[in-house]
Amino acid sequence: MKTKDFSRRKFIATTATGTAAVAVSASIPAFGNITPVRNESEKLAILGGTPVAPEKKWPDWPYIDEKVVEEVVKTTRSGIWCRIQSPNGTVPTFEKELAKLYGIKNTVSTGSGTQALNTVVEALELGPGDEIITSPYTDPGTIQSILVSRALPVMADLDPESFQLDPDDVERKITKNTKALMPVHMMGQPCNMQRIMEIAKKNNLKVIEDSCQAIMAVYQGKKVGLIGDAGCLSFQTSKVFCCGEGGAIFSNNDELLEKCYTVMNHGTAKNGRTTVIGSKYRMNEFEAAVLLGQMPGLQERHDIRNRNAKYITENLKDIPGLIPQKLYEGTTEGSWYIYAWAYKKEQWNNAPREKFLKALAAEGISLSPYIANGLHREPWTEFIQTLPEYKTMFGAARMKKFRDELNLVKCDQVCQEMAMIWASGPLTGTLADMDDLIKAIKKVHANRDKLNSI
Ligand SMILES: *Cc1c(COP(=O)(O)O)cnc(C)c1O
Repeated sequence: MKTKDFSRRKFIATTATGTAAVAVSASIPAFGNITPVRNESEKLAILGGTPVAPEKKWPDWPYIDEKVVEEVVKTTRSGIWCRIQSPNGTVPTFEKELAKLYGIKNTVSTGSGTQALNTVVEALELGPGDEIITSPYTDPGTIQSILVSRALPVMADLDPESFQLDPDDVERKITKNTKALMPVHMMGQPCNMQRIMEIAKKNNLKVIEDSCQAIMAVYQGKKVGLIGDAGCLSFQTSKVFCCGEGGAIFSNNDELLEKCYTVMNHGTAKNGRTTVIGSKYRMNEFEAAVLLGQMPGLQERHDIRNRNAKYITENLKDIPGLIPQKLYEGTTEGSWYIYAWAYKKEQWNNAPREKFLKALAAEGISLSPYIANGLHREPWTEFIQTLPEYKTMFGAARMKKFRDELNLVKCDQVCQEMAMIWASGPLTGTLADMDDLIKAIKKVHANRDKLNSI
């Protein structure tokens, strides 16, 4: 279907010596050997110059090929459209394939990442009166997975260089009611799990890893999501492995996974008995079919995104005002759902970020400011103050403290400085695609004295 795919596959086949992304990256002959930016000092496109990459076309997202279509047709024809119709249907097959990818016995799929996270919250019996510490810089689904169980999401501030939870602030936010931590691997790269696990052990806390952006990311030799008690994935369309809406739970703890199945299945266990509280969060067979169809190229696209991320970082290291996301020591593979920078305007002639993004877009490269406000700035923090269950279970003093601690200035800083590219499709492109991005950024930087006039 796509000629590019063939050449990409061939590239991997001829250069990769192992399965690790590192092997692929190491095979690139010379980092920093990018073709000179001919038009670096040329006139900015926004001021009438020639764009670096006019109408830049990145690889399409979501990823579609004939195999994906075939799997959906196969499921349609089978008449097995719901997971309980057959133990060998598409959903159970997908769960086993995903488990193989993670080197574990089984996984539990759900209808979304939010549902996956909430299933784990319920399976760990966390609820009213319990506090779970998480990040304000995340998808709303993270905190909603806690709120729908009427537990309290307590937000800790960020490390502004990694855009991830700051373990020191996590420690400060622990109270006698804290039962769990929900670290979020933002952009698809691991957060500081070494410190987070130390804090969890010391305080006897459960750890639910929000790996919704971070499928296959590796930290200290382990895939993220398998470091804490359980990990959760999202297969929403924008994610690097997707089917529109979907999610999954994975864990080394088989007993916990079994309980997750029961919660996910309206509280009904595999033996047919309805035993606990749980909504109906089943993935449907068509979603699993799309995922099964995407699976063959999953590792390859992961490796290419890792290679390209390294290439971008290496080739922009001399642009001081664009600082790539800090990766914690022990990160050997990222998922690269997003490639993100902190934009430091002092290095851009004090031009506001919006002018930089506008000038870059005119060159054909669109970056996004991503999340406008951290979740600590959203109205739900007031809404829960009005609910009797929060007043009763947590008490007025605790809810006041919760409100007083919402001034998360590092998260505000990250929201203001963020410039990122949605990487699911774009980072599966060729090195020439990456060169366009690199050249455009270098050109705007060379012309930074003009940015305030646009
Ligand atoms: C996408 C996402 C979620 C929610 O997943 P859905 O499938 O959209 O419900 C949760 N956390 C993070 C970090 C996400 O990126």
